[in-house]
Amino acid sequence: MGNTQYDIIIIGSGAGGGTVAHALADTSARILILERGDFVPQEPANWDPEAVWKHLRYRASEHWLDRSGEKFLPYTHYCVGGNTKFWGSVLYRFRREDFEAVEHIDGVSPAWPIGYATLEPFYEKAERLYQVHGECGVDPTEVPRGPFPHAPIPHAHEMARMVEQLREQGLHPSPLPLGLLNPGEPNGCILCSTCNSFPCQRHAKSEADVCCIRPTMERPNVTLWTNAYARRLLTDATGRRVAMVEVEHLGEILRVEAPLVVVSCGAVNSAALLLRSADDKHPEGLANSSGLVGRRYMAHLATMMEGFHPFRKNHTVFQKTVAINDFYLRGPDGGYPLGQIQSQGRTHGVMAQTVVSWIPLWVYAAWVARGVDWLAISEDLPRLENRVTVETDGRIRLNYRPNNLIAHDRLVTEAKQILKRLGFWTVITHSHEYKNTTHQCGTVCFGTDPQESVLDPYCRSHDVDNLFVVDASFFPSSAAVNPGLTIAAQALRVADHIVATDLK
Ligand SMILES: Cc1cc2nc3c(=O)[nH]c(=O)nc-3n(C[C@H](O)[C@H](O)[C@H](O)COP(=O)(O)OP(=O)(O)OC[C@H]3O[C@@H](n4cnc5c(N)ncnc54)[C@H](O)[C@@H]3O)c2cc1C
Ligand code: SF4
Repeated sequence: MGNTQYDIIIIGSGAGGGTVAHALADTSARILILERGDFVPQEPANWDPEAVWKHLRYRASEHWLDRSGEKFLPYTHYCVGGNTKFWGSVLYRFRREDFEAVEHIDGVSPAWPIGYATLEPFYEKAERLYQVHGECGVDPTEVPRGPFPHAPIPHAHEMARMVEQLREQGLHPSPLPLGLLNPGEPNGCILCSTCNSFPCQRHAKSEADVCCIRPTMERPNVTLWTNAYARRLLTDATGRRVAMVEVEHLGEILRVEAPLVVVSCGAVNSAALLLRSADDKHPEGLANSSGLVGRRYMAHLATMMEGFHPFRKNHTVFQKTVAINDFYLRGPDGGYPLGQIQSQGRTHGVMAQTVVSWIPLWVYAAWVARGVDWLAISEDLPRLENRVTVETDGRIRLNYRPNNLIAHDRLVTEAKQILKRLGFWTVITHSHEYKNTTHQCGTVCFGTDPQESVLDPYCRSHDVDNLFVVDASFFPSSAAVNPGLTIAAQALRVADHIVATDLK
């Protein structure tokens, strides 16, 4: 096993853990990354809808319990790179207003302890690290910013025509910011139809395995253990420091030590790890004097939409390039914020069949060949009762009841009208509702008041001095754009802080 003395242990290698590892690899600190999954092999199955959607080849096999105690298979992945391996790589900065208190139909989305200006330089670094393509000056909700590192991905012919028609409707469509590596170049991204929810067989998607973990593996100071599941964090006699991490690795239970521990297991698993680490000094779970660990779970309200026209075949291969942000800050009547509409990757027949399995595949295939896919995302609000808990047998329970539903219904209604005006005969919708886990966040929130938050504004635990949590758990609110770039930007900010304070 080699050296078991490290300076930093990072648990999890996704958007948060992978990014913080990449940033800290430049220091001389000896870093151990613990990842419960393995590398996703580069293989033809990466792009096979049947392997990915029917046989769930890369999906986590563990079941969670929902709020009524029913088992369900969460839509999540345990592997090097975490869920970033499967993301659509839409890499948005949160809007400036997302950092402020915003009134929604269902209540107030709370302010963050930092403003957009604080995170802006780290967004810029994160966009370079994840090679984001985008265009300034067209998005009506755009934040103050410099140019994108790369030019936008051009819309395919039919999407470009729809963008024109959207403008004729008085809307302001803009290119989605996308993290893709060297599109059009040899070995680069080929703009295929199996990107969102699939791993990239060419390693041309900007994700934490390819952009962060693999480059750090060349460093002598970085060690990665795969198939290494962090079971518990054990504190020292004072209870103010994590002394050891108990790990299940290759069938053995080991204890590893470091003066600094960065937890980054994703919002559900980070909360679960802290709760499982309860001891006599922390009877309600580690870092949980506020009682907030696991609470305030958010995941966005997300509805997949497919505009269908029986006589119009969809020839677009790479479809995920268009955003409509006109209703992000306020609805069409000038009222409360509704959220974002974005075009989605192509649906494949097998994917659609997972919704109603008895309909034959050829029906779905014929259907999706004439469909154009969109996604409507609205913000959900942090509620104490929406929470992650751990059962006595160790299983994760997700008590989640979506809120802000009226805003989301209005957004979906608006989106349907927009699509009808684009000529689609009908619009089919589907949502994961209370089993929504892909944009999970908020369970270990950051803030300035130790009674109202778990972490300080640099994501350090208020209670445990050498413990950071750097993944989507720190979000005090969920905003309504994709979370990944904000996780990565804060991870870079935390890494700078660790270098300036803990490693100096
Ligand atoms: C299909 C899909 C599409 C998406 N598309 C987008 C998109 O286009 N844009 C966007 O911004 N976001 C997107 N997301 C969401 C995005 O992937 C997540 O927000 C992001 O990956 C969360 O980062 P994280 O660091 O919090 O957790 P993760 O990236 O999930 O990383 C957590 C890591 O911790 C590991 N881990 C968990 N528990 C333990 C343990 N006890 N011990 C050791 N390791 C552990 C996991 O295996 C995993 O590698 C998508 C997600 C999915 C599933
Ligand atoms: S080739 Fe490009 S579009 Fe296809 S999966 Fe890879 S990154 Fe995504």
